[in-house]
Amino acid sequence: MKRRDAILTIPGLLIVGTYPAVAQKFDLGGAIGAATDAAKAATLSDADVRNYAAQMATYSDRQARIAPAGDKYAQRLVALTSSCQEDQGLRLNYKVYLTKEVNAFAMADGTIRFYSGLMDMMSDDELRYVIGHEIGHVKHGHTKKRMQTALAASATQKAVAASSTRAGVLADSQLGDMVVKVVRAQHSQGNEREADDYAMQFMSRRKYDRKACVTALEKLDRMSGGGGSNWLSTHPSPRERADRMRKQVA
Ligand SMILES: [Zn+2]
Repeated sequence: MKRRDAILTIPGLLIVGTYPAVAQKFDLGGAIGAATDAAKAATLSDADVRNYAAQMATYSDRQARIAPAGDKYAQRLVALTSSCQEDQGLRLNYKVYLTKEVNAFAMADGTIRFYSGLMDMMSDDELRYVIGHEIGHVKHGHTKKRMQTALAASATQKAVAASSTRAGVLADSQLGDMVVKVVRAQHSQGNEREADDYAMQFMSRRKYDRKACVTALEKLDRMSGGGGSNWLSTHPSPRERADRMRKQVA
């Protein structure tokens, strides 16, 4: 009974009751470790964030079909990003996932991934807008905040499994969960505006065509009726955002 009480003191561990077999295997040492993880998750340092982001990127890459060097998407990516290897101190690394999915994402360690479906529909400058937008989510701390939330939840799950992972190294099951929570969750309107404004500054600083911010969002808006864009489901309201961007370009 004592052990069960210990489990229930961990915030959010409501699923224990539905997994009695797992709860029985639970040990108090694991509970303390997980509670510490949960507390730590609330105050992640930037180095922690980069460390976890790099692990998530490696995990995500392992699940994907990556365009090999010499592939037409990989070649286009190199040409597109050769002059954009860092932004305001953030070192960037790129890959293309070969999939019809229309999507892209950034991680807090400077990982940027394009899905070939998005590349098919966008010009180089429109893709640069997407790069700027995704970096904006990292720079404004949106990505970090999500990671903190996801890690706190993940630490709770770790308590259930009582798994012993090395400090700072996440298990594949945790990484999979984190990728879903950090990359696949929808951003708020406020976050979108901040990321769009960052993208506009990014385009200005680098002397890219700022109108691409508008046309990229217009293309996504035309898709929004028919669905099919995962980027759209995580980065909402393209029409309103296109209007905002148009005013900034004018
Ligand atoms: Zn966004």
